Amino acid sequence: MKHTFLDMVGKRYGKIVVLEVYYKPGSSRVYAKIVCDCGKVSESLAEPIKLGLKKSCGCGQKQEWRRKLKGIDVEGETKELGVSGFARKYGVSRMLVYKELKRANEGK
Ligand SMILES: [Zn+2]
Repeated sequence: MKHTFLDMVGKRYGKIVVLEVYYKPGSSRVYAKIVCDCGKVSESLAEPIKLGLKKSCGCGQKQEWRRKLKGIDVEGETKELGVSGFARKYGVSRMLVYKELKRANEGK
């Protein structure tokens, strides 16, 4: 395994701390066992954590996001503001904006 992933063990990334990294049978991607500040232990791909894209187990994020964006035309507004601008305006992460756009597109 690349050291870059092994180095993650014991480190904090936002609200999560990496407990271990490992390969799963049949997968070439590196997974991480993580514990979040909320107490939840879960598994995630190691790369998004390393890149700083994932900073919590996802606790509260979804609900908060839905509440904030209720009635907002995400697609329309991101066209106008760009993803970064949109994320700044509503105080959400760009990752979530991308997710929401993807979801909107798949719904069509
Ligand atoms: Zn959490």
